[in-house]
Amino acid sequence: MKTPATIKIGRRRYKVIKKRHMHYAGLLSYRTKELALATHWRGTVPYTPRQIKETFWHEVIHGILYDMRQYALNSKEKFVDGLAMRIVAVLKQLPKDSR
Ligand SMILES: [Zn+2]
Repeated sequence: MKTPATIKIGRRRYKVIKKRHMHYAGLLSYRTKELALATHWRGTVPYTPRQIKETFWHEVIHGILYDMRQYALNSKEKFVDGLAMRIVAVLKQLPKDSR
């Protein structure tokens, strides 16, 4: 998936980076303001574009909930994951030129 160099989520702007080796599929650092995406599972098997997109949205949702100070919801990984998957599924139905 094409990703922007930076993304503004609420009041914070995060640098978007892709790495081959990461302990997680994705990571959002509020401290360093980085949204990191792994391109490969454990540095070996490439993630599919769909998986990377879902991870991107997963991290964006963390950023949104953090900005909204919804810390309890933000700590619920299943909630964040479920929301991310559904957002990607809805976006997939939109015409390519729509935002
Ligand atoms: Zn998470």
